[in-house]
Amino acid sequence: ADVHVEPDLTDGFHLVIDALKLNGIETIYGVPGIPITDLGRLAQAAGIRVISFRHEQNAGNAAAIAGFLTKKPGVCLTVSAPGFLNGLTALANATTNCFPMILISGSSEREIVDLQQGDYEEMDQLAIAKPLCKAAFRVLHAADIGIAVARAIRAAVSGRPGGVYLDLPAKLFSQVMDAELGEKSLVKVIDPAPAQLPAPSAVKRALDVLKSAKRPLIILGKGAAYAQADDAIRQLVEKSGIPYIPMSMAKGLLPDTHPLSAGAARSTVLKDSDVVLLVGARLNWLLSHGKGKQWGEPFTKKFIQIDIEPREMDSNVEIVAPLVGDIGSVVEALLASMDGSWQAPPAEWTNAIMAKKDANIAKMASKLGKNSSPMDFHSALGALRTVIKERPDAILVNEGANTLDLARGVIDMYQPRKRLDVGTWGVMGIGMGFAVAAAIETGKPVLAVEGDSAFGFSGMEVETICRYNLPVCIVVFNNNGIYRGTDVNPTGHSDVAPTVFVADARYDKMMEAFGGAGVNVTTPDELKRAVDEAMDSGRPTLINAVIDPAAGSESGNIGSLNPQSVVKRK
Ligand code: ADP
Ligand code: MG
Repeated sequence: ADVHVEPDLTDGFHLVIDALKLNGIETIYGVPGIPITDLGRLAQAAGIRVISFRHEQNAGNAAAIAGFLTKKPGVCLTVSAPGFLNGLTALANATTNCFPMILISGSSEREIVDLQQGDYEEMDQLAIAKPLCKAAFRVLHAADIGIAVARAIRAAVSGRPGGVYLDLPAKLFSQVMDAELGEKSLVKVIDPAPAQLPAPSAVKRALDVLKSAKRPLIILGKGAAYAQADDAIRQLVEKSGIPYIPMSMAKGLLPDTHPLSAGAARSTVLKDSDVVLLVGARLNWLLSHGKGKQWGEPFTKKFIQIDIEPREMDSNVEIVAPLVGDIGSVVEALLASMDGSWQAPPAEWTNAIMAKKDANIAKMASKLGKNSSPMDFHSALGALRTVIKERPDAILVNEGANTLDLARGVIDMYQPRKRLDVGTWGVMGIGMGFAVAAAIETGKPVLAVEGDSAFGFSGMEVETICRYNLPVCIVVFNNNGIYRGTDVNPTGHSDVAPTVFVADARYDKMMEAFGGAGVNVTTPDELKRAVDEAMDSGRPTLINAVIDPAAGSESGNIGSLNPQSVVKRK
């Protein structure tokens, strides 16, 4: 970098870095290139951790999950046009999942872009980003950088968290201004995500509904995990005595082995409950929109909902007691108003759940213990379930179809924010980005359990994992294809079916190419041993876990979302 700065001058590069540092941003995830290469170099020189990826989507996913884990916006830095578009997928995904993130992208010159004269990587990025994130800003003057970064941070973390786009045209970086004025132009954001307290009348209304319940249920969502109100949430469950189920990324908020967990009786409690308290969980497709067969029609259920976003209320069904506010404040308010006269739910309800739960757990246990070869999903997951039980502070990253759906049910979580997965869109490709950021942000060991197809979307980042020597152990559930490896091409042509991959591929060799450890395993015992060794050593490791190609079902648990052709062609 041959950026020459007079002692009494500053410039766009330095102002961006100073503004981020002033606001406690310690890490930037990105991919270097024109016009932000020097920004990355200078940020590193200024003490920011700069983590370079091989593809922007993975850097963006890393930033997004950093936001989820820390409640501070994760920052992703990309080049213009194609790099920006790659990062945008992650920004949109972050926004959909309510993760705070800022995508900072270099862009080309306004004069040329606006007249569409064909600049290098020309694209009207601000306009394209706008509908896909919570807020989008462009900075044209170095003196505005401080304010722009402050606005981006506030937009990302206040209210319902989400993605923010910050457009920085190339020319901005070399704009100079007086250093002292520059320093004064920076803003340290005070109280970026202010507490939002519920009205006392709303708290009373909600408790009245809850008290009237014969078969109450609490549903914890990833908003509850994000809120970091772990003690209050635990108290709410235990003081009320109400059974709860965790959504996928809320697993571990209370240990999955908690006596009030109804996770193993999920379909029963959804169907039979009469009052449901939603804590940071939306009634979207993942909860069948709060209606229909899964919820036990004819429809008489009452919903209470805690959410920071007022417009979430009544989005799918009527919410009889909306509690708008941040989860920490709302749950504290509920606890403060639950006086000594609080009665635990009728034993008839809790006993019925317990019986169902015990039966389901016993049914599952019989599938987990086998040391079979080839492995099926259950026998392989049985081994990994023990790993997490023995190492509850490890972070589990999980994606795939069957690999995701079955791992969610089989692997118990014991601590908050330890399970990171495909989220609201059920998107594939989050794996390596999440794994890198989880290791960087928490310093804890990471176990990434990946379907072979899911892994492919971000697999090149094994180089990144080796480069930064991160304590990440990747297990690829290799069943030779998408859903299964056994589909055939009905025409007899030598092309394989669209869902089939190279048979018996050795993903472990990819890791060895970059200096990490690669292991091929064919039994649950071997798998357990290999994971233990990886996690004890902290060495980047990829374990190719050979799974029966015939194991696995179409689209995992969500096959019903797949449209079927009813037309038979001759
Ligand atoms: P899940 O998929 O686990 O059910 P969702 O992503 O559907 O979770 O829902 C999370 C909800 O949590 C969102 O509606 C979001 O507005 C809300 N939320 C996020 N952070 C907070 C917070 N600190 N306080 C209250 N609500 C929050
Ligand atoms: Mg597969």
